[in-house]
Amino acid sequence: MSQRLRPVSPIWVAGRPQHGEEEFFVTHPYDDSPVGATSWATAGQVEAAVAAAAGAAAECAALPAHVRAEALEHVRRRLDEEAETCAELITAESGKPIAWARIEVHRAVSTFRWAAEEARRFTGEVQRLDTDPTAEGRMALVRRFPRGPVLGITPFNFPLNLVAHKVAPAVAAGCPIVLKPAPATPLSSLHLGALFSETDLPPAMLSVLPVPNHRAEQLVDDPRLPVVSFTGSGPIGRQILRRVPDKHVTLELGGNGAVLIAADYPRRDWAAERIAMFGNYQAGQSCIAVQRVFIEAPAYADMANRIVEHVKNLPSGDPNDPSCKVGPLISAEAAERVQSWIEEAVDEGAKVLCGGGPRQGALVEPTVLADVRADAKVLRDEVFGPVLVLASVDGFEAGLAAVNDSRYGLQAGVFTESLPQAMLAHRTLDVGGVVIGDVPSFRAEQMPYGGVKGSGVGREGVRSTMEDYTVERVLVLPDA
Ligand code: NAD
Repeated sequence: MSQRLRPVSPIWVAGRPQHGEEEFFVTHPYDDSPVGATSWATAGQVEAAVAAAAGAAAECAALPAHVRAEALEHVRRRLDEEAETCAELITAESGKPIAWARIEVHRAVSTFRWAAEEARRFTGEVQRLDTDPTAEGRMALVRRFPRGPVLGITPFNFPLNLVAHKVAPAVAAGCPIVLKPAPATPLSSLHLGALFSETDLPPAMLSVLPVPNHRAEQLVDDPRLPVVSFTGSGPIGRQILRRVPDKHVTLELGGNGAVLIAADYPRRDWAAERIAMFGNYQAGQSCIAVQRVFIEAPAYADMANRIVEHVKNLPSGDPNDPSCKVGPLISAEAAERVQSWIEEAVDEGAKVLCGGGPRQGALVEPTVLADVRADAKVLRDEVFGPVLVLASVDGFEAGLAAVNDSRYGLQAGVFTESLPQAMLAHRTLDVGGVVIGDVPSFRAEQMPYGGVKGSGVGREGVRSTMEDYTVERVLVLPDA
């Protein structure tokens, strides 16, 4: 299905639509056709956005909760009304299959709904202090106050919902935000800027600025943006942390998601289907995609066969086809890298259980590998492509150790129906979240979400992000 070329999208400078200095096309990863265009923000526009955010910080912090909640509800309603247009935009710019793009829009709607609700209940806490004799006659009122304007930096793989996860909690918490979208996928966030311009919020509350990376670094350095909320790759995230160690920085980074399947797990076909699907959804370009699959030895051969059968049956190709489940990677270069990692593993002795064929443009064939060397990139690093690596483990505890044998720690999935095994996994796995009876790719918008080790610093999830953007301040009062 061919893509249409949309009109040039304005950028949003302190809530106002503007055009920048140089236009650039946004292209469809499936066939490289232009699908839209926008412009790079000029140095003057960046300065105007940051100055306006800093100038409006007190006004935004003082906005009544009902004003913030109503604005968020307006955006939620408009996203819902325009769901199909938004899904088409996501598919056009990211190559995500339209079926997944619809789910992303639905999730963004949910993110805004939660943020509207949290804006209303984000109060404080009253603490009694007379638990200690020296504090008798006093009480504490603990409230959270905005840290100040936020810089949000987002990746290409969820061009709407990951933007929503920066922007909606900022509004709910009363913080202006300057959002820098991924250069490959700016259109969804610019569309969100248009929906925000329909609200009664102070215009300076949101700027959406496509900028080249050197200008993004200037934003990172700018002392008027004391909070940096980054989602993207590890090297860039850690570089930001090194640049601004005194800022409040949250990093949502990559992973090499693992699942462990207990020998006696009864729903093997369900597990195989979920693993096949979520190793390959949006071509594996999700930080919580399944990459490493550890199977207790007695179940290995049967599970491997089932997984391979499900992978072979995944409809892949044109992401505009409603039945497509596996589309292209973001670019031919990304596909080339994934292909080279597969070839390297195979050269080193890995067995190809399915896939592994030559890439076609940005399309990589869904691939399942076994007998992969422990130091292979497809196992140790974040593959960010449609590749599953299967391995047999001797016992459940050995499986937990295998999951932990990673420099990442985002989420893990454990297929077990044993409560003691589930509790053991929760205690033992060094990750930000353990999903029992499903893949690590499960995420709900309100739950705390984030990683340990190389997968990041801090937590997202609407409530967690609001806590991240704010700081507690105590008022000690006489309690006479
Ligand atoms: P990326 O790190 O290349 O880019 C992310 C963002 O950082 C983009 O907007 C990019 O323009 C910007 N950027 C690049 N250089 C910069 C610099 N020097 N200073 C400031 N900003 C800079 O990541 P990507 O390829 O867009 O996304 C894929 C990565 O994101 C994967 O590693 C994936 O695991 C990770 N990710 C993590 C999560 C999570 O929640 N943990 C979610 C989605 C994606």
